[in-house]
Amino acid sequence: MPRIVLLGPPGAGKGTQARSLADRLRVPHLSTGDLLREAARAKTSLGEEADVYMRAGRLVPDELVLRILRERLGRPDAANGYILDGYPRNVAQANELDRITAIDRVLAFDIPEAVLVERLTQRWTCPKCGTAYNLATRPPKTAGTCDLDGTPLAQRADDAPAAVRTRLAVYNEQTAPLLEHYRRKGRLTPIDATGDPGQVAGRLRIALEART
Ligand code: AMP
Repeated sequence: MPRIVLLGPPGAGKGTQARSLADRLRVPHLSTGDLLREAARAKTSLGEEADVYMRAGRLVPDELVLRILRERLGRPDAANGYILDGYPRNVAQANELDRITAIDRVLAFDIPEAVLVERLTQRWTCPKCGTAYNLATRPPKTAGTCDLDGTPLAQRADDAPAAVRTRLAVYNEQTAPLLEHYRRKGRLTPIDATGDPGQVAGRLRIALEART
């Protein structure tokens, strides 16, 4: 029962890898970012409250994220494992997660900051299925529409340059300390996240086969 956390800065490719890994291992991809964006689009009160923080590139308060995560983890498809993407993002969330469940592996995406800024500002995403495109390195086959379902692509509000700077600062201050948290527990495997998605997927596969 694989319970895997993908840890890494925004733009490291966690979402892209989480989706293919989840398909391969036949477990759900649980992205707190996707769940919060969904709630914001549905205009639930939680979603509207979260949206203010998300647009600014700041962390949504722990109790709101935890509420949405608990609900998702409680659904039947999460009973046999999952790929957790975007949670935990600070030490309090990691402690909360330790109370809820036992995580098997934490795969930490390692990538230089200059590459992240480049990726985030060129990123367009399908609002329906979440597939991410990069105008420079992975453009859609037809300009402006998703290859998989034809939905018009959108740029995330928090991929604007000011929000990107905030998100990177938040990552360095609040999320990066989790590397040490999981290293101490012997759960951490660093993954070189440079290169194209196929290369990174190959490294993930090797890391997961090496030790389970
Ligand atoms: P992501 O799609 O993972 O980049 O998340 C997008 C945004 O959602 C983040 O910049 C935060 O505002 C919010 N968010 C996602 N996950 C969390 C979390 N675990 N804790 C707090 N905020 C989160």
